[in-house]
Amino acid sequence: MKRTVLIIGAGGVAQVVAHKCAQNNDILGDLHIASRTVAKCEAIIDSVRAKGAMKIAGDFGVHTLDAMDVAAVAALIGQTGAQIVINVGSPFVNMTVLEACIQTGAACIDTAIHEDPTKVCETPPWYGNYEWKRREACKAAGVTAILGAGFDPGVVNAFARYAVDACMDTVESIDIVDINAGSHGRYFSTNFDPEINFREFTGTVYAWQGGEWTENRMFEVMREDDLPVVGRHKSYLSGHDEVHSLAARYPHADVRFWMGFSDHYINVFTVLQNLGLLSEQPVVTAEGLEVVPLKLVKAVLPDPSSLAPDYTGKTCIGDFVRGVKDGKPVEVFVYNTSDHAQAFAEVGSQGISYTAGVPPVAAAMLIASGVWDVGHMANVEDLDPKPFLALLNRIGLPTRIKDADGDRALVL
Ligand code: NDP
Repeated sequence: MKRTVLIIGAGGVAQVVAHKCAQNNDILGDLHIASRTVAKCEAIIDSVRAKGAMKIAGDFGVHTLDAMDVAAVAALIGQTGAQIVINVGSPFVNMTVLEACIQTGAACIDTAIHEDPTKVCETPPWYGNYEWKRREACKAAGVTAILGAGFDPGVVNAFARYAVDACMDTVESIDIVDINAGSHGRYFSTNFDPEINFREFTGTVYAWQGGEWTENRMFEVMREDDLPVVGRHKSYLSGHDEVHSLAARYPHADVRFWMGFSDHYINVFTVLQNLGLLSEQPVVTAEGLEVVPLKLVKAVLPDPSSLAPDYTGKTCIGDFVRGVKDGKPVEVFVYNTSDHAQAFAEVGSQGISYTAGVPPVAAAMLIASGVWDVGHMANVEDLDPKPFLALLNRIGLPTRIKDADGDRALVL
């Protein structure tokens, strides 16, 4: 039984993680949150207290931390006695946090693939560049490290594993579709850190098709689906973390990720990109100032967490999984829909942060109870999806399944 959780980061996703940990502190024990800007940690604790989110009386400590500093992260793990670290800081800190967990023995959960700030879209499989190089070290230390345990990556990996295990003998394709049909009412904004969001879409679009990595440009390949709750939407073949682990587990299947974008988003994105304003490489102004264009764009766009109070509408994220069962073709759509306004009422965040923040808390609860405390590194699809999806059904992200028998709640 592992207890005491250290949350790293104090952004939009951390806000949800903090609320959900508080709502389940009878299982998780004492809670701590640490980030670069301690005032943001304090604001999160204030909102946890204001909502009366702590299930039972307990501590929620606040700390300043530079998570790029392995020794500082390890020292804080030691000082707090944390046995589970939920890393929802920027993806630039993933490897330093993981290293600190390996050194201290704490379990580690993150929600995004590690990124090097100076590089965009490295060679596939992306996990092979950083995370999987630490597999042996995790195993030797007996450290549970669950990679990419947000919604996508995260829950969608569990959807894929569930569909393949429960609904078919062989799998032929996994198409993950992410539609945000909500509206934030601003001229233009990203739903999470603009720097990370844009970095996802400026590079090559890698998909796993026909047993090899294929390359496309962003917005080159489109599909259209009539989805439950949100209706008909276009989405575009995009590069995403989960393709890189699912392709390793299911090498004989095609694995693709599709993200929905409005025409307006694509127009603004295209102008910014063509002007060079999405580059991660610095430029020097006439005044001699060195500026990273992408960081400048981030500075002038709305802070994604400020969108939450006015956000309306719903998200639909799910996996179309095709295969063969008893010699006959079969297709299932395993999915979740979430409501932005409902997320705000519950935890003070918009729906994108909500869908990303609830799953790592479910993973932490499964580590705390021993079910997922596997003592090695795992992507979400490496673990039994049933306890994870069953827990998510209870704590705010219910799964549904649509197939030839209809559209129904997934009861586990
Ligand atoms: P934010 O940018 O809102 O928050 C990131 C936080 O990390 C900030 O509080 C920031 O501090 C902190 N931070 C950055 N660098 C450091 C550092 N060196 N030391 C300590 N703290 C640091 O991001 P989000 O909350 O939107 O996203 C958090 C994570 O979740 C990201 O990795 C993102 O990619 C991932 N994500 C995953 C999704 C999924 O479904 N799998 C979906 C959405 C996001 P400061 O405030 O001082 O800048």
